[in-house]
Amino acid sequence: MKAIKMQDPELFEAMDLEKKRQENHLELIASENFVSQAVLEAAGSILTNKYAEGYPNKRYYGGCVHVDTVEDLARSRLKKLFNVKYVNVQAHSGSTANMGAYRAMIDNGAVVLGMSLDHGGHLTHGHPLNFSGIDYTFHSYGVSDKDERIDYSAVLEKALAVKPDLIVAGASAYSREIDFKKFREIADKVDAKLMVDMAHIAGLVAAGLHNNPCEVADVVTSTTHKTLRGPRGGIILTNDFEVYKKVNRTVFPGIQGGPLMHVIAAKAAAFKEALTPDFKVYQSNVIANAKALADELMRLGFNVISGGTDNHLMLVEVKTLTGLTGKDAEELLESVHITCNKNTVPNDSEKPFITSGIRLGTPALTTRGFTPDAMRLVAKLIFDTLMNKDNAFVLEQVRKQVEKLTKTYPLYT
Ligand SMILES: *Cc1c(COP(=O)(O)O)cnc(C)c1O
Repeated sequence: MKAIKMQDPELFEAMDLEKKRQENHLELIASENFVSQAVLEAAGSILTNKYAEGYPNKRYYGGCVHVDTVEDLARSRLKKLFNVKYVNVQAHSGSTANMGAYRAMIDNGAVVLGMSLDHGGHLTHGHPLNFSGIDYTFHSYGVSDKDERIDYSAVLEKALAVKPDLIVAGASAYSREIDFKKFREIADKVDAKLMVDMAHIAGLVAAGLHNNPCEVADVVTSTTHKTLRGPRGGIILTNDFEVYKKVNRTVFPGIQGGPLMHVIAAKAAAFKEALTPDFKVYQSNVIANAKALADELMRLGFNVISGGTDNHLMLVEVKTLTGLTGKDAEELLESVHITCNKNTVPNDSEKPFITSGIRLGTPALTTRGFTPDAMRLVAKLIFDTLMNKDNAFVLEQVRKQVEKLTKTYPLYT
């Protein structure tokens, strides 16, 4: 960042402080990760200079020969990664990928059945202020009261009642493996199309540690920056050539103009990494770390929703044990340099801005090399913090242990 430092000290300072924050805090936000140097280089490269509206070999601008190669690398690697026939790598984010996929599958006003936002669904699965809730008529399914997991027979019942044109599977805060085959069966029974939004779990799917929705869904969307550990962005995948042709039109010119070629290069770099055996090891460590964290939190008395996790994240209801709301817990943890987000838990009595829980994920710390033992220590630090909100001495001890952990597992050495 030499040039920024020289010409723009104000901006440099903010960026440098953010770098230090990333290094010195324990990152437990389930949707975040730390990308490799190669991904950083590509995202910060001169490819940001290039306009390339259109698709490889069919551009509206000259001089696209090399960015065509870049986009083709991203596409061929992505196809291999998820064993799928057709992909679009241009969506600027997970949300625009979803917009592109919806528009390719259904018309405005169509009926869609997705996961309830209070039970783990995403904004783009029908929030009233989001384009999805504005353009389509959303109905929702949730988790059962009994075991806090998706009850597939209840999903079928709901689908029979609302007769959706499209069913959306996938979530932002659900800690159990989702059975995409069951969703396919339900969709077939009610003659609906099936879209899977695998934004959170794409890395696990790529590593073969979660069933692959590309085998059963009509269209699959994802972000590239969560477990997949690439740059911020979106992707759309399908095995259906007709859907693919539509997606290519809805993304460009439907939603976006020029693609972010530097980000597409960074996607290509990340997909190459995701095809390596090291990435499989990384993802199995992500899951082992999540299990260790969840088990230790439960041993310490926390209510972990559904009794644990199959993937990279967990929802922890903190109010019963600590008396704190999710919002208070998030703030208190931030004060000892542990970063997470408040999150509603199923049937939460608090408002979405307050909540009774927090969401924790292990992708970022696992990238730093954290082990299950280290995760158990993190659980203890969370417990000590939330049980001692007024004890300045304990909080200071926690801060010191956090510092020690971040030194043991450095970032961007
Ligand atoms: C994160 C997420 C998205 C959206 O990603 P953005 O890049 O933030 O727009 C979409 N769907 C799900 C399920 C997500 O978790």
